[in-house]
Amino acid sequence: MMKTVRALGLSAVVAALVLSGCSTATEGRAQQDTTATTSTAVTCPDGTVLTKIGKCDPAMTTTTSPSASPNANPIPAAPDVSACDGTQCDLTTSDDEVDRLVSEALDDVAHMWKLMNVDVHLHLYKGGAVDCPTPRRADATAWTCVMTNSGGWSPAEMRRWATDHGTSLEDTVRAIVAHEIGHIVIDGFGASSDDMVTDETRADCLAGGYSNWTMTTSDSAMGQLSLDTTKRVLKGPRRNAAIEAGYNGTAKTCAEYTP
Ligand SMILES: [Zn+2]
Repeated sequence: MMKTVRALGLSAVVAALVLSGCSTATEGRAQQDTTATTSTAVTCPDGTVLTKIGKCDPAMTTTTSPSASPNANPIPAAPDVSACDGTQCDLTTSDDEVDRLVSEALDDVAHMWKLMNVDVHLHLYKGGAVDCPTPRRADATAWTCVMTNSGGWSPAEMRRWATDHGTSLEDTVRAIVAHEIGHIVIDGFGASSDDMVTDETRADCLAGGYSNWTMTTSDSAMGQLSLDTTKRVLKGPRRNAAIEAGYNGTAKTCAEYTP
């Protein structure tokens, strides 16, 4: 199943070129900003290589113990999802509440998808990933580059967004992260569109599906995130219609959703 999804993801690379960034800041307007974040020209400093999770790591590690046989130190598999601050990718005990919530929400939303046999790969970095450094909008709360399965979030904009929408920080982060993972899933389905409004509303639609899952099962480690709250976070008439469609529909509904 994982192979199928990934193969589909590859076939969507062309479409993904169009949607190299995303913004949850404004309904459907993100494409107005054309500082397209290309994720193709990342150069790591000498002596480092760009890893799959979008950061520059030492090219040659020298941690092999002298007596080790060649395969004694396998590289640990990268996690499917992670929230990182620089090279620190365990933010579960971070002093910054947004760090902890992004980390927790990534795990929770990815868990839902895993239960549906969809493997999600997304690595978000505080302030932006090396290979997905900046959002299209300066006031974006979070953003994702589907080509690199990486992206970022802005702690300040997350907090501002929560205040502006009258929603808790936790609910805000969860709905936004569900939307960002939605971009990855839609792309994995080969359902990325060349229209950014369509892509944004499809991601919103899947955030609605996440809300439904939290309300109708006891599987979410973070508890319930209601439809109403999700709509308040991802505010806007078109966005809210998409969220409702996803809440009441299926992943297929969202893959085919048109605003
Ligand atoms: Zn988006």
